[in-house]
Amino acid sequence: MDFAEVLTRIKEASPKHRLDIGDPDLPPPPELLDALRKEKDFRYGPAEGLLEFREAVASAFGVEPGEVVAVAGGRHGLAALMWVFRRRRLLTPTPYYPGYFDIAGTFELGLGLVETDGGWMPKFAERGVYVVNYPNNPTGVVLPREKVRELVDVAEFVISDEIYRDIVFNGFTSPMELSSSVAVVYSFSKVFSVPGLRIGAVIAPRNVAREVAKFNRATVNVPPTPTQRAVASVVDILPRRRAEVSEAYRRRAELAAGWLKLEFVRPGGAFYVFPRVGDDVRCFEAALAAGVSLLPGSLYGDPRHVRLALVEDEERLKEAFTAVNAACGGPR
Ligand code: PMP
Repeated sequence: MDFAEVLTRIKEASPKHRLDIGDPDLPPPPELLDALRKEKDFRYGPAEGLLEFREAVASAFGVEPGEVVAVAGGRHGLAALMWVFRRRRLLTPTPYYPGYFDIAGTFELGLGLVETDGGWMPKFAERGVYVVNYPNNPTGVVLPREKVRELVDVAEFVISDEIYRDIVFNGFTSPMELSSSVAVVYSFSKVFSVPGLRIGAVIAPRNVAREVAKFNRATVNVPPTPTQRAVASVVDILPRRRAEVSEAYRRRAELAAGWLKLEFVRPGGAFYVFPRVGDDVRCFEAALAAGVSLLPGSLYGDPRHVRLALVEDEERLKEAFTAVNAACGGPR
């Protein structure tokens, strides 16, 4: 089943609980909504992003504005960077975010897979440009610092998809802390619950940042300027917001660990669990019949697991988990 077929099945079934796509349910911060309402300037801006946006992101990351480029969401930043490194050997751990293959397929790029162990830890051995995503979609795992060290030691360059870096339960090491040959893809979609705003940033060495701006010129030209201004004006709420969303999603992951009668590696961040079910499509269909949509692991390169997005409140999640247990569970 491909993604389109899965979504068609979900639409037809119209389940009570939508735990399929990662569309955050927590309300966006009121400060951001206020700032958006006040926007009255809809003109073009520079391809690399407005200076006020780049300064705001640079200060949040402790880098220079010249190392920040605005992009129209994380996916756009990933496309830009995979294009920048199109002539290199690209590698990504499995299970993987399917977007990497959408991009690789569109640009006709090869993307090699790196195997992981039972705790979803990859073995980084081959030289190449790595596309990594921690906290991870679909597993929720975070790499310990020694693993990040192993990664930067073998990588020629790292494209670090840190879309979930604000949703962490026990700490997170960015490869950027250990090496300068790293580009971070950041997005406001998940932390502010605004995936439709299409705003993110690439934080990268200046020569790479310039290439990302070139990609902007060739595609969106200018990432949305009112959005950049509104987001820039509220970047200072990030630390508080990060704590709030991390706590809310941590509680849900804990609830899943208590309620789901399925085995999964405990997540260290993001808002997914990726339990083992044996046959992903069978579980997908059975759960759908029981009123819960989840996603088959084969979309992520692993047909033995399914992904549940924890994007409902705790009461509703309990009800959904009970249905999933009956549909997909065996004895623990
Ligand atoms: N990377 C990962 C791992 C994701 O899960 C997502 C969204 N689900 C994205 C990138 C892209 O997010 P956006 O384009 O909304 O920033």
